[in-house]
Amino acid sequence: MNVVSKPRPIISAVIPAHNESQGIEIAVKQIADILTACVDNEWEIIVIDDGSSDTTYAQIGALSQLDARIKGIALSRNFGKENALLAGLDYALGKAIITLDADLQHPPSFIPEMIDKWQAGAKIVHAVKRSRQQDSAWKRFAAYFINHLISGLGGIDVKNSSDFKLLDREIVDIITHQLPEKQRFFRGLTSWLGFPEDYIYFDVAERQGDESKWSFWSLLELAITALTSFTGFPLRIVTFLGFLTLILGFFVASDAIWSLLNHQAVSGYTTIIICLLLIGSFVMISLGIIGEYIAKIYDEVKGRPHYLIKGSVGIDDD
Ligand code: UDP
Ligand code: MG
Repeated sequence: MNVVSKPRPIISAVIPAHNESQGIEIAVKQIADILTACVDNEWEIIVIDDGSSDTTYAQIGALSQLDARIKGIALSRNFGKENALLAGLDYALGKAIITLDADLQHPPSFIPEMIDKWQAGAKIVHAVKRSRQQDSAWKRFAAYFINHLISGLGGIDVKNSSDFKLLDREIVDIITHQLPEKQRFFRGLTSWLGFPEDYIYFDVAERQGDESKWSFWSLLELAITALTSFTGFPLRIVTFLGFLTLILGFFVASDAIWSLLNHQAVSGYTTIIICLLLIGSFVMISLGIIGEYIAKIYDEVKGRPHYLIKGSVGIDDD
């Protein structure tokens, strides 16, 4: 049988979108124009609709009708940006894949520079945030805190990194085939791989469309995943707390015995209260930390897929 396969695009742009109806069309058009300038028509854009409740997917469908290089995948519900990205990587055909946000906060104007660095040999090109002027104060603080925590404890550098990246096909194949873990922290994983990397620097642009799609809780969730999937250090804190209470207990016990021998035994009420409170809180904290890891192990063991697809436009069956 003579199967004529379509040529592979050079660049795939992967865009996760959750309720982005206000800005998605402008974003796709801008990105398409820039890709055309870089690689002629050898590109594709895959928008992953991450369980939007607005018209995002319908708009992608319409764009796809007009231009077959624009493709859409609809997830059955909101699986979160990390999983949406992964769905995009699974279906992208390009020799290099660029991941970027639907709200144009990752300026597509940097794409040519990223492609240059890739052609010069980098397997991963990270776009690093030079400023975060557009983020609210608490978000800047949260980002600073989370990134430094992971960099410090997990031993990989994710400071100021973003999900705006170019990945070589080789890297994408590794991520999609060789890293079976369910809990993913995309930014950390790409640094962990250790292939030749390069960097570009960008200023975060103003958000197109309505406000950010991250709630406080989803950011907290991301931070916990980032930590627990990269380091067992918090578990060591538990051991540390245990030794601390042991040493403390040693002093308090000596004092108690001393008092007993000197016939002043009843004075220990305060000590007992302090001990109870300290030990109680250490035990609770420790249980909580262990619980976080057990929860992650539970998720891994269940082995459920990262995402489920309910429909697609422009994606070939094979
Ligand atoms: N996003 C997603 N699923 C979600 C939340 C966000 O696919 O559950 C997408 C969103 O549509 C956007 C990108 O992830 O393309 C970044 O989201 P947002 O701009 O809200 O976050 P921020 O820029 O504040 O990091
Ligand atoms: Mg944004």
